[in-house]
Amino acid sequence: MEALLGNERLKSGLAAAFASDRLSHCYLLAGPEGSGKHSLARILAAAMECTEGAKRPCGHCLQCRKVLDGVHPDVITVDDPAKKTVTVEQIRQARADVYVKPNEGRRKIYVIPRAMDMNPAAQNALLKVIEEPPDYGAFLLLTDAAERLLPTIRSRSVTLRLSPLTEAEGLKALAERCPGKDPDARAAAWARSEGWLGQALRLLEAGESLAPETQSFAERFARRDKLGLTELLAPLERQKREQLIPLFQQWIELLSQALAVRAGQPGRWEAAERVGRSRTSGEALKALRSLQRALALLQGNVSPGAVCGALQVWLDVQE
Ligand SMILES: [Zn+2]
Repeated sequence: MEALLGNERLKSGLAAAFASDRLSHCYLLAGPEGSGKHSLARILAAAMECTEGAKRPCGHCLQCRKVLDGVHPDVITVDDPAKKTVTVEQIRQARADVYVKPNEGRRKIYVIPRAMDMNPAAQNALLKVIEEPPDYGAFLLLTDAAERLLPTIRSRSVTLRLSPLTEAEGLKALAERCPGKDPDARAAAWARSEGWLGQALRLLEAGESLAPETQSFAERFARRDKLGLTELLAPLERQKREQLIPLFQQWIELLSQALAVRAGQPGRWEAAERVGRSRTSGEALKALRSLQRALALLQGNVSPGAVCGALQVWLDVQE
């Protein structure tokens, strides 16, 4: 349970359910990238399989350890990262498989890490099994946008909504996990993370090293290269949400620094200096707002393809 930081109310509710073994057979784990959905899924799966009676999940019985190490044969991930969506075939396969008794566990648990990427046919197929699952069957649906699931699925699930960490919790966790990093860098990453530890860690890791796409964006934006920007954005349409979010966050940081340069302050990045020297404050601010809008859409339920398409139009307006 300690693997999930913060979220005290959620955890005490779950602890009570675990203690009395009142577990639902379908949970909806909702929260943005980096909010702890995967940690929570492991805790739930371990609690379902744990053989210790007193305090589930105990974390040290054989069943717990297998779940936590990701090698439990009855905890099955339903996902193919090569595919854009979760298909009806994948769900049908899980549905057929759930009627085969567990190998060694008390439960047979299906984890769907991108539940929001199930198309309506897949969702309907899932609905059939969560309406009447075998006693031992359980489904953990991870999603960044609960509203993209059918109301019928939501009404048959227990929704666990993750909360952002407080600043004190977040900074403490960053200090523990990244003791070698400069405290200022940790604070800066935290400030841009919106309270989600996973995002702060990613930002901290990316650190001061700029993505090649950020270098290209800075160069092309600085020289008003309209075609170049289109060529940069087009292939990004096929990237995953979780790859684009940190990239757009870096572009936002770049433009914020460019604005500071315009205001006479030094930019931390050379690329920001260049943008600040080449474009007006008004232009940098407009682009910054466009990117913030794109980021918000991406963190909502809009597809990377649609967001990149819209961004091309918005950035075009500046030219
Ligand atoms: Zn255990």
